[in-house]
Amino acid sequence: MLIIPEALIADLLSPQDAFDAVEACFKAMAMAQAYNFPVVREALGEGRQYGFKSGLDRLGGQLGVKAGGYFPGNAARGMINHQSSIFLFDPETGRPQAMVGGNLLTALRTAAASALSIDRLARRDARVLGMVGAGHQAGFQLRAAARVRQFEKVVAWNLHPEMLTNLAAIAADLGLPFQAVTLEQLGAEADVIITITSAPAASVLNAHVRAGTHLACMGTDTKGKQEVEASLLARAAVFTDEVAQSVTIGEAQHAVAAGLLQPQAITTLGDVLIGRHAGRPSENAVTLFDGTGVALQDLAVAAKVVERARAMGLGYEVAV
Ligand code: NAD
Repeated sequence: MLIIPEALIADLLSPQDAFDAVEACFKAMAMAQAYNFPVVREALGEGRQYGFKSGLDRLGGQLGVKAGGYFPGNAARGMINHQSSIFLFDPETGRPQAMVGGNLLTALRTAAASALSIDRLARRDARVLGMVGAGHQAGFQLRAAARVRQFEKVVAWNLHPEMLTNLAAIAADLGLPFQAVTLEQLGAEADVIITITSAPAASVLNAHVRAGTHLACMGTDTKGKQEVEASLLARAAVFTDEVAQSVTIGEAQHAVAAGLLQPQAITTLGDVLIGRHAGRPSENAVTLFDGTGVALQDLAVAAKVVERARAMGLGYEVAV
């Protein structure tokens, strides 16, 4: 079994690798060649969440699990709040193959999923990117989005405005003008909105969002979280990584519970990628990607890292 610690990951996987790996696994899911097992997610108290996301990709030859969660007290200890490890097993024998640090991989694969949704669903002429959230994941989201559209400006809002300086620095690094705005201004200007917060109630309201906007809602990955008003999902063409997760732990949980959205009305991004669904219905439509984060994304990027590490002689082989 190969152990690949967190510190090695940055040299083993690029944002483009993550984009390609996530695209391949979403396609495999749409072709019923890969599936995610039911998610185990438990509240540990004091806002801590811990769980297991696992799955099998027959096309990619991957079987495994990501164990980890969200620990909001970590930031004060100088650690990021998300902590996870990915374990890969041989799909034929069940033998453990690798244990891979999952923190950077989670950020890269989550950003890749939202960038993929922007690439396939946002208007081609999108010029203003709106960011809602400024925590650890937000910078990765901003960088990945900038790779798929020619944005000319970033507008951003965060409940804790002091955190926006981190995003401003990344925008500057990308050569993009940056402006902290109200949610009303953000909705009025943005062509694409990424939400990446741990909020328990909607920040972005239906009335904030103008026609033709694409939203990538990436923060809601647990029952009880919410970033956008439920009625926005009734108005939008809704896409997701996986419908089962979208209606239970994703942003769609609230609209479905309120009877505003039927699960059958939600399309997987994989269906768009394999050409089974046309994607954006019209220039004026609001499109919304409910990115809940599936195990197969984690397995896909971890498998790429293992392949690279073996080729480069990196990592630590242990007998198990
Ligand atoms: P973080 O703790 O670093 O940042 C949290 C962000 O949420 C900050 O911008 C903070 O200001 C904001 N926030 C906190 N409370 C809020 C509230 N009540 N209303 C509005 N905003 C609030 O977290 P992170 O690592 O950046 O993760 C952000 C979210 O993304 C988390 O909910 C995490 O679980 C989720 N996540 C989802 C995926 C996925 O695949 N969909 C993957 C990783 C993380």
